[in-house]
Amino acid sequence: MKALDELNFDNRFARLGDAFSTHVLPEPLDAPRLVVASEAAMALLDLDPAVAETPVFAELFGGHKLWAEAEPRAMVYSGHQFGGYTPQLGDGRGLLLGEVYNAAGEHWDLHLKGAGMTPYSRMGDGRAVLRSSIREFLASEALHALGIPSSRALCVIGSDTPVWREKQERGAMVLRMAHSHIRFGHFEYFYYTKKPEQQALLAEHVLNLHYPECREQPEPYLAMFREIVERNAELIAKWQAYGFCHGVMNTDNMSILGITFDFGPFAFLDDFDAHFICNHSDHEGRYSFSNQVPIGQWNLSALAQALTPFISVDALKEALGLYLPLYQANYLDLMRRRLGLTTAEDDDQHLVERLLKLMQNSGVDYTLFFRRLGDESAALAVARLRDDFVDLAGFDAWAEQYKARVARDGDYSEEQRRARMHAVNPLYILRNYLAQNAIAAAESGDYSEVRRLHEVLSKPFEEQAGMEQYAQRPPDWGKHLEISCSS
Ligand code: AMP
Ligand code: MG
Repeated sequence: MKALDELNFDNRFARLGDAFSTHVLPEPLDAPRLVVASEAAMALLDLDPAVAETPVFAELFGGHKLWAEAEPRAMVYSGHQFGGYTPQLGDGRGLLLGEVYNAAGEHWDLHLKGAGMTPYSRMGDGRAVLRSSIREFLASEALHALGIPSSRALCVIGSDTPVWREKQERGAMVLRMAHSHIRFGHFEYFYYTKKPEQQALLAEHVLNLHYPECREQPEPYLAMFREIVERNAELIAKWQAYGFCHGVMNTDNMSILGITFDFGPFAFLDDFDAHFICNHSDHEGRYSFSNQVPIGQWNLSALAQALTPFISVDALKEALGLYLPLYQANYLDLMRRRLGLTTAEDDDQHLVERLLKLMQNSGVDYTLFFRRLGDESAALAVARLRDDFVDLAGFDAWAEQYKARVARDGDYSEEQRRARMHAVNPLYILRNYLAQNAIAAAESGDYSEVRRLHEVLSKPFEEQAGMEQYAQRPPDWGKHLEISCSS
């Protein structure tokens, strides 16, 4: 276990030089204090969890102090936002403090979001508010606990610094961790500004540090792009299987590692709704729940365009062609598991689609349905779940098909079925209203609810004593919360 001053830095991105990022110091927050810390994320840095409670922790992650070896940099990138190209974006309110390596030799970027203005702030104030920092913290750690690749969050630091959004709020910082903060938009920036040398340096950097196995392939850059396609197909299959809606899938929010990245007005589905739009500024529904699948491919095409100096168009097209079949195979595999099935049959896709249509028509809770389906034998479970459906004849027909399918699937005890299904069907997810309750308490100075919710969500598959209230459908007020895009 390490103390805070024992972290080892190796700032590989900073060494790429000033064409890639700009040196900027964090702007401190007034009266910084710990809101919440993730022990699991601290363990990735070999940090003793007790250090989170020390004043120096809040000073470091509230922008007051820096390690001597840290080299805070604002990265430059661009990207396609809602389908249109924005020539320059960049870290407008976040800084890459440096890269830390742990005892296992893993490198972690430490990125401080809400750290003040940078050359890329455009019209913004460089700040993040407490509300959005808590949401990012809870979501990234909850996704990780669900087994969905995501950036991580070490802590949230609150403050007295006033920040103006629709109303006056308080500034906060979230310390985000990832193996890389390089986005699709980094490649787009150097492509569209016609800087082939820097673009080649960036590609070498990503290949060497993050896709070293692709070096062995005859065409390393193509192998790397294929890998990025595969990881994104797998990631989006997980989002769809678990009802996660990202909300702002602009190419500057897409990680070259295929992890969930940059949290804004995201949501987990309560009732199943394929057309759900979590970002209420997204009037066209470009980033609606079901559109995430084709948008994933669209974003990969935008990256492919930026890679045309390195890879032939035909090869890029062929690699892009892998996306949809891979997505479908991964998605179907996850949904089979959610249904408790251990074998594959041709008609399974149809079984899933019929169920989702019935859930959509009746507004059935997406998470609880699957959890309850594994509580008891298939026959007893469907009999109990029947009440949630409006189209009873439709549900009965589906239930008959499902029971027959389960009977053909294999011979296992009820205990085995329950254990297997509960291991893939969470009881607790980050419902918007739960986040909202925790935020309201935190805004009035009580951080206990954020901490409790984080704790519950860190074991989403395990029933936890006394935590029934976290496994409920939302109350009426919590059903259609409008999450502001201003964060
Ligand atoms: P996002 O919507 O958070 O992905 O941000 C899109 C772009 O706007 C990025 O370049 C951000 O750094 C920048 N940005 C967002 N909020 C702010 C802010 N409050 N101050 C400065 N830049 C911001
Ligand atoms: Mg962003």
